[in-house]
Amino acid sequence: MHKHLLAAVAATSLAIPALAHADHHEDPVSGMADRALDGDTIAWDFVEGITTEVGPRQPGTPAEARGRAWAMDWLNARGFANVADEPFPMQTWVRGEEEARVTAPFAQGMHITALGNTASTGPEGIEAEVVYFPSYADLVAAPEGSLAGKIAFISHDMRPTQDGSGYGFAGPARWTGPGVAASKGAVATVIRSIGTENHRTPHTGGTSFPDGVEPTPAGALSNPDADNLERMFARAQGRPVTMHLTLTPQFLGETMSGNVVGEITGTDPSLPPVLVACHLDSWDLGTGAIDDAAGCGIVSAAALNVAEAGQPLRTIRVLMAGAEETGLWGSEAYSAAHIDEPIAVGLESDFGADRIWRFESNFRESNPDLHARLAQAIARFGVANSTNVATGGADINISRDQGGAIIDLQQDGTRYFELHHTPDDTLDKIDPAQLRQNVAVWTQVVGLLANEPGDILGE
Ligand SMILES: [Zn+2]
Repeated sequence: MHKHLLAAVAATSLAIPALAHADHHEDPVSGMADRALDGDTIAWDFVEGITTEVGPRQPGTPAEARGRAWAMDWLNARGFANVADEPFPMQTWVRGEEEARVTAPFAQGMHITALGNTASTGPEGIEAEVVYFPSYADLVAAPEGSLAGKIAFISHDMRPTQDGSGYGFAGPARWTGPGVAASKGAVATVIRSIGTENHRTPHTGGTSFPDGVEPTPAGALSNPDADNLERMFARAQGRPVTMHLTLTPQFLGETMSGNVVGEITGTDPSLPPVLVACHLDSWDLGTGAIDDAAGCGIVSAAALNVAEAGQPLRTIRVLMAGAEETGLWGSEAYSAAHIDEPIAVGLESDFGADRIWRFESNFRESNPDLHARLAQAIARFGVANSTNVATGGADINISRDQGGAIIDLQQDGTRYFELHHTPDDTLDKIDPAQLRQNVAVWTQVVGLLANEPGDILGE
């Protein structure tokens, strides 16, 4: 066991925490967690299978529907009960042609990809002067109307961080930057990719426009292209920098998506279930391996491992949410449909496939005994305890809406934004040793929760 743990930890070049040597092997759940660290193949099987047989799963499209059918077959074949596809309507956006070309003063092409929920330039494209904003804050500070007829270029400074906090800092450039630029008159927006690597792979992702602001075309430049554009401004000596932009995405209107669910049935159906969530859809550029086939593989493997250790007290429900990437459609639909069915505790895996390094709950003060037992049980996998209050991820809206118990098993995000939403989100980027560490930690935590008779939140 330690050999594999060391391999997992070494891959991130982080300090190796002290390992507990508790005598856990008499407890079946702990024994299963240890075996998962050593040799889990279930999570890998899910990711390898869906990325190979289905590939990209853009929300609301036939590709996503093929992903649901594939996942239901997989869950049924693995022995899950009550496997279902719970349909919901959504507004669907799909990519078109994408091309960016600086036309003056230094004419050359750039690598760009459109952002979700943005408008088309039309097939002929548009050409306009570019206005450079080194940061989102600089854009916000621009006077009203000052971007009339212009293309806004929003750069930013995003660094890799273990806890993913760089995303919160740079993310607004994508999440709301195009809407802010449009409200000041911009005809289009280009942003520096929200990503931490220097490959010529632009990072897509969703954006949204404020009420009353018409969506405009908007795209992300790869990091090297954004660097180049910044240098052009430095060398332009006051001459206007102009760009020709062709982005032809389409809004398809209302189509159907769905949430795939499956259960490990508990011995006491009167107890609220443990909800373990992920999302099944992906962006169209890669094959959605780390975002988020890995998460679905991890939570499913944990549920199966807990069942293998002996039928749990509580039901474990797997939620593979649909249409997360273009607006959390599945998470919201699931909450709306099931709000009156109490969930004991919700957990989500949606941050890649690298190892878990920190444990957080929202019941450390209200149920200190359970929080401490969970933290202690996963210390041997190199997971630190934390006083941060868990808030849950995109796919467990229901737990937040119910005010229920939430656990965050924080994954190492150092590499995540090198791959996130790019064509490079593919199976080969997953480190099998770190994926197994994930499954081991999840097996331990879900096993304890599913066999916990008392109220998880402790209120
Ligand atoms: Zn995701």
